[in-house]
Parts: sequence; C-alpha cells; structure tokens
Amino acid sequence: TGEVISLPDLDASLVKITNSATPKTPLPPSKLVFGKTFTDHMLTVDWNSNTGWAEPKIETYGPLSLDPSSVVFHYAFCLFEGMKAYRCEDGTIRLFRPDMNMHRMNRTAARIALPTFDGEQLTELIKKLVLLDSRWIPGEPGYSLYIRPTLIGTQSALGVHPSSDAKLFVICSPVGPYYATGFKPVSLQATTKYVRASRGGTGSYKLGANYSPGVMPQLEAAKQGYAQNLWLHGPEHYLTEVGTMNLFVVIENEKGQTELITPPLEDLILPGVTRDSVLTICREHAAGQVQVEGLPSSDFVVSEKHMTMPQLVEYQKQGKLKEVFGSGTAAIVSAVNNIGYEGTDIPVPVGPSGLGNIAQAVLDRIQAIQTGKIDHPWSVIA
Ligand code: PMP
Repeated sequence: TGEVISLPDLDASLVKITNSATPKTPLPPSKLVFGKTFTDHMLTVDWNSNTGWAEPKIETYGPLSLDPSSVVFHYAFCLFEGMKAYRCEDGTIRLFRPDMNMHRMNRTAARIALPTFDGEQLTELIKKLVLLDSRWIPGEPGYSLYIRPTLIGTQSALGVHPSSDAKLFVICSPVGPYYATGFKPVSLQATTKYVRASRGGTGSYKLGANYSPGVMPQLEAAKQGYAQNLWLHGPEHYLTEVGTMNLFVVIENEKGQTELITPPLEDLILPGVTRDSVLTICREHAAGQVQVEGLPSSDFVVSEKHMTMPQLVEYQKQGKLKEVFGSGTAAIVSAVNNIGYEGTDIPVPVGPSGLGNIAQAVLDRIQAIQTGKIDHPWSVIA
C-alpha cells in the first residue's frame, strides 16, 4: 500500500544478560596464543527481514546451532571486524576508535545485502560484554582483549539471493603482544601469480570470503622462505597490501624530504583503522598541530599515492628506501626487512630495535593513546 514501515533497529537497552553458570579460569597471560582462548560470554542478536533486529542477548560462550542449508555455509554470507579493548593504568577499560569498526562493518554488510544497524548501539553492547568479561583482560603491557564482531546470513534455503535472516555475534579473546620476543621484521614475497583484490571487486570490504583464498598463496610464499605476501595490482605491479595489513613505505624523495607513502584506498584496499591512525598522526605532526616524539622535525611529507614495484626497486638502488612496514589492529605495526620480487631479494633497512624510526614513533604514539597515557578522543572508555 506504499506505507513505509520502519523495522526495529539494534537497541542496546533491550539486552538480556545471563551470567555464565560455568565461568572458566583465565589462562596466565604468558600462555596466551593469539585467537585461541575465548572469554565466558558472547553477544548474539538475530535479524529477520519482516521483524528487524531482535533483542540482544549476552550469554555463555558456546556453539551456535544452524541449519545445514544456511546461506552462510554455501554462499559465504559472512563478514567480521577486528578491534581491541585495553586495560589502562587508571583502572578503565578502553576501546580504540570503535566508530571506525562500526562504520566499516555496516559498509561491508551493505555490500552483501546483509542488514545494517546503528553502530553506536553495537558499541554500547560491546562495552557491556567487555565489562562483564573484564577479568579476562590482562593488565600487562602489550596485552589486550581482541574483539571479533561477526555478521552472517542464516536463511535456511539454497539459492543465491539476499538472506531473509541474519545473526550478529561478538566474541572476545585475550591476546598478548603480537611479537612476544620483541618486534621481528618479516620478509615478503611480492606475489605476481595471485591477486587479492580487483577493480569493482570486494577487496575493500571485510568479507570472510576475501581471506580463505589468501591462505594458499601464503603457504607458497612460506615454502620459499617468506613470511607473508606482498599483494600487487595490475601489470604495473602497484603495491597494495601486505598479508592482512595495510602497507607503508618511507623514502627520501626527489626534494630530499622524508616521505611516508601509502597507496590510496580506491576499491582495492581495506580501509584499516590503524592505517587511518598512522596517516592522521603523521599528518598532524607534519602540519605542526601536534609534536610526536620520534617523527622527523622538518621536511616530512605524508602521501596517499600509487607506487609500483619497479619504483620501489629504483629507490632501493639509490639508497633512498628507508622503511617498509605493515599496519593492523593485531600487531599495530610490523617491519619488513626483505622483499622477494621476480627472483631477486630487495633488502629493506630496519633499525636496531627491529623497527624503523617512523614505525617506532607511530607505534609509541598509538599505544600511548590506546592505554590512556595520552588522553585522546580515539580512546573510548567502556
Ligand atoms: N588489510 C586487511 C586485508 C586486513 O584484513 C586488515 C585487518 N583488519 C587490515 C588491512 C588492517 O586493518 P585494521 O588496521 O583496521 O586492523
């Protein structure tokens, strides 16, 4: 009848919390392996195309029960986020830029016709979950709680069409420093045989389906002695991303300035929260708005622009390649010390700490914000 009916959106105030009757004993922090231990509770919220978002539930962590015909199992209606909560010295638990994750999750959901939701409401629910399980967040430096919001299509019906049902869930995993024994530089294989993303494709979305096809290329790289793939694009061999991290290159440019370069997002690159944080911190420093210890005091420029492998090789030959590093939630930054490209290894300088100067400076700054040492609007108290 042309009537516009608006369905219920996600509403944190409706949450039903059931405390676990079987709480576990958290592992000692030193025993944690990334992503293998989960807290006592999880958040679940169901959605249906006729009734909208149902009331959220926080209950005991455990298996989901799904019909084998659920579209998630057949057509990969699955997307996720990765974010962290930190225990701070002042006793607070803080999330780092949750609005960015909520925005990215909604953008990804829309790409596969799964329902979107009010991101502020999901952030409120995540705060409740994190506070309920806060005894699982280690207080030791470098430790945090990794949070994995996930959205799947659950309609029980074969056939490729929008899913009439969906389930949103959030699980949490206490994690240690990504590099337990100090920052260890990695070597990359510049992959010309496989692509991660293409124009008009889904590389800029955090879809589950983007990740499984990267595993076999990673195994091939490992067989040849490289830790990760450097994903290239097009016959020009444009640099895009490294493993599951965004990519940064530091050069001395034609004007003798220190230039921090990352490729533009376009539709090939995942819009990383850490990438945006690195860019913002460095731009604000370069503009003189904040002084970040360890960043160049002058002649420092920050660019989002294309770079090809032949250009990188040329900078290296001229001794003008200063640093290459990846950025992501798990490790924050990860230094690169070598790139295998078309049969030749290109050495990349790394500082004595295992990190170059710029990577070290942004790492220190981001960690200080995450743990509340520097008061900053990016750090949101749960
Ligand atoms: N690129 C890819 C492909 C990723 O999976 C991730 C991890 N989410 C990143 C980059 C880094 O993003 P973020 O800084 O938001 O963790």
